Amino acid sequence: MSCVRLKNYFDGTWTESASPDTLPVTNPATGEVIAQVPLSTTEEVGRAVEAARLAFEDWRQTPPYARARCMFRLKNLMEARFEDLARTVVEEHGKIIDEARGEVRRGIENVEVAAGVPSLMMGYNMEDVSQGIDEECVYQPAGVFCCVAPFNFPFMVPLWFMPYAVACGNTYIVKPSEQCPMSQNMLFELLDEADFPPGVVNLINGDKVAVNALLEHPGVVGLSFVGSTPVGKALYAKAAAQGKRAQCQSGAKNCLVVMPDAELEPTVAAIMTSAFGTAGQRCLAGALVVAVGAVHDALTERIVQAAARIRVGNGLDERVQMGPLSSRRAMERVLGYIEKGEAEGAKLLLDGRGVKVEGYPRGFFVGPTIFSGVMPEMAIGREEIFGPVLGIIQAQDFDEALEIVNASPYGNAGSLFTSRGKYAREFRYWARLGNIGINIGIAAPIASFPFSGMKESFFGDLHGQGRDAIEFFTDRKVVISRWF
Ligand code: NAD
Repeated sequence: MSCVRLKNYFDGTWTESASPDTLPVTNPATGEVIAQVPLSTTEEVGRAVEAARLAFEDWRQTPPYARARCMFRLKNLMEARFEDLARTVVEEHGKIIDEARGEVRRGIENVEVAAGVPSLMMGYNMEDVSQGIDEECVYQPAGVFCCVAPFNFPFMVPLWFMPYAVACGNTYIVKPSEQCPMSQNMLFELLDEADFPPGVVNLINGDKVAVNALLEHPGVVGLSFVGSTPVGKALYAKAAAQGKRAQCQSGAKNCLVVMPDAELEPTVAAIMTSAFGTAGQRCLAGALVVAVGAVHDALTERIVQAAARIRVGNGLDERVQMGPLSSRRAMERVLGYIEKGEAEGAKLLLDGRGVKVEGYPRGFFVGPTIFSGVMPEMAIGREEIFGPVLGIIQAQDFDEALEIVNASPYGNAGSLFTSRGKYAREFRYWARLGNIGINIGIAAPIASFPFSGMKESFFGDLHGQGRDAIEFFTDRKVVISRWF
């Protein structure tokens, strides 16, 4: 892949940014710079918003069936480029090709669900709310929305939002992660081909300058953010102060609770994909195993054995099971946490430092790493590491395990492994978590369900995907009529 300077896309045109500032996009397996991403200016953001605002006037009046047809065209184009999209995700992010295929598939599924907008957006009515008076509720698009995306699912995350927003008749601006902007760039090539009218879908590359310009622009009505908790929390407050609606999906520290009655073999397999899939860089990743009672020793032994067998390498190699961290900075942060865990007195059972991958001396690789004896109050027990580092905590019984889960400031996801329905019900009832797995390692909601999250993992009320997205991207108008 040659080292291109990426462009912005607005008003139906690919436009070179005038900004002199760029950042390199690096393939984390090879260490090679594959593109330069421009850091767009406030003025450029303003032009994108104006294009989206103008386009909104016609697009909102375009019949939902016609808007849905654009989604069908987009879906077909995505299917045709499926493998290219997945490879691009691997090259910009580092995850393994099968995980990238899963990401692209989920992105497409969101387009498929959004294509159902002619039924999803229907309102409701009631006759004779008082004699001779009828009342109806209509759903209307609200204007220009934007998405600020993270690096870890660079292709999929904007598709949790944009298809629904646009299908509902809004216009849209995506600000991809400046670290992994390549697959969004390719998506916008397909959006261009899909013949959306100019200004309906727009792409602005950049960093926080572009984000602040979007939030401060009076023409933007709402924000969908996915990223770290400090940024999500700050942007939520900023959006509210500007009178904009916002949904900010944020960080996580997810527990996998294993009861003594769990089936160990599938449990260990699920823990492997949960903790080490995408090199632990998923907001749904299992970061802590809470081993309840007598299961601790046998479980720990099996986890270490299975993790030690994981093949680390370039994600484009189909045999590889875990890729690199997505950047040098991420790798250094993870290495710092491993040192911290040792200093805090946790027991390092498997050390992923210094892993060598033949042929890739400049890659940002850290192998699977496991600590036992982790306490919830340790930094490695409470902070989001976002890497292939799994901590094992011992709990006496189910109640203590549940307390550990609920004491976390985060509430994104968590799983229980058990063969007893009673514990499963208690967990699903009491755990303050948005996404819950029962004998499932990664509780990732499919496109027609909301991608939930609670506490410090989510700021807002309506979530991305499914029906929540339709509610978020519309205004409800109530009309009460009497005819004389
Ligand atoms: P990040 O917060 O660093 O960046 C996310 C986006 O915010 C980027 O587009 C970036 O340009 C922008 N940004 C960063 N700092 C900003 C600032 N000060 N002002 C305005 N904008 C700013 O997150 P990341 O490192 O790209 O992504 C990893 C994080 O995302 C993890 O914490 C992970 O848990 C979280 N995440 C959450 C979910 C979820 O659904 N809850 C899903 C995926 C990732």
